[in-house]
Amino acid sequence: MNEMTLRDRFISSIKRKKTDKVPACSVTQTGTLDLMKLTGAYWPKAHFNAEDMAALAVAAYELAGLEAVRYPFDITSPLPMDMIIEGNVETQPSIVKFPCDEKSDLDNIDIEQLFDSGRMDTIIDATQIIRDKVGDDVPLIAGAPGPANVAYGLVGPNNYLTWMITDEDTFGNMVDIGVEFSLEYSNTLLENGVDAVCMPESNAGPDLMPPQLFESMIVPAYKELTSRSKGLLIMHMCGDAVWIVDPMADSGFDAISIEEKVNMEYAKKVMGDRVCIIGNVSSAGTLLWKSEDDIIAEAKQCLDDGVDILAPSCGFAPRTPLDNMKALVTARDEYYLEK
Ligand SMILES: [Zn+2]
Repeated sequence: MNEMTLRDRFISSIKRKKTDKVPACSVTQTGTLDLMKLTGAYWPKAHFNAEDMAALAVAAYELAGLEAVRYPFDITSPLPMDMIIEGNVETQPSIVKFPCDEKSDLDNIDIEQLFDSGRMDTIIDATQIIRDKVGDDVPLIAGAPGPANVAYGLVGPNNYLTWMITDEDTFGNMVDIGVEFSLEYSNTLLENGVDAVCMPESNAGPDLMPPQLFESMIVPAYKELTSRSKGLLIMHMCGDAVWIVDPMADSGFDAISIEEKVNMEYAKKVMGDRVCIIGNVSSAGTLLWKSEDDIIAEAKQCLDDGVDILAPSCGFAPRTPLDNMKALVTARDEYYLEK
């Protein structure tokens, strides 16, 4: 098979079509201190300024060799600035002001108003800058909060956990708002040149939510979301998602990104060819702390286990060494030479 472009290979992999080799990239955040030093584009400014966001994101492709450009570096965008704190050079922005204290506050949520902060424009501007820099042959992946993470962001941890268990109607209402928010945001990004949108959905995982509730409340919401999407959608599930591997494969997402707590061989066995599987070289363990040889061994094991896109298990920790980022592509290249 002829050498494919990075973009064709990535899109074909997500669509479960034949490719010449497995792509090696990240669908989760790629901003590291090494790349910030090399580009001069530091957090927190790179979360809010399109030029800096583009420079830092492109560095993961140009300098670390990853076969996609992935941005932004946090999961609060496009929420307004008065809901978040900016974080610092190695801490991401996080939500500190949740707009819904009471159940009735959900009736007053205006999605358009949440988009009005200008942060959506920053991502769209960054997309244009990145596309101009890397050309048409490199895939662009944008992150966006999924429905459960939006719901969590609207009501805060206490209400989220309480209403999830005690009030099915209110919880359903929160998730419905999440669907509309995630859909409008991701479709806007897809219409503006992004090849795939990755939605981290940590707040729907078994670490926080009973698996039965995931199946009865969240999977139908995902089906609604994905059926109305204008392009490719990836779900990233943090933590130990072993209990929901099967329903995740039927949720309508084009691809599922999982952490190392889910064994790749098991995931492949359960999900089969229903969906593209992305992962799962340990970000917080191997990539951050261990040697390049350790990373290469773990990555080759993922490939042996049948992963469709080789990637870190979660966002790169900011202190991940540049050589360790590079080892992901090295591992993939060695794997094919040894075959
Ligand atoms: Zn994760």
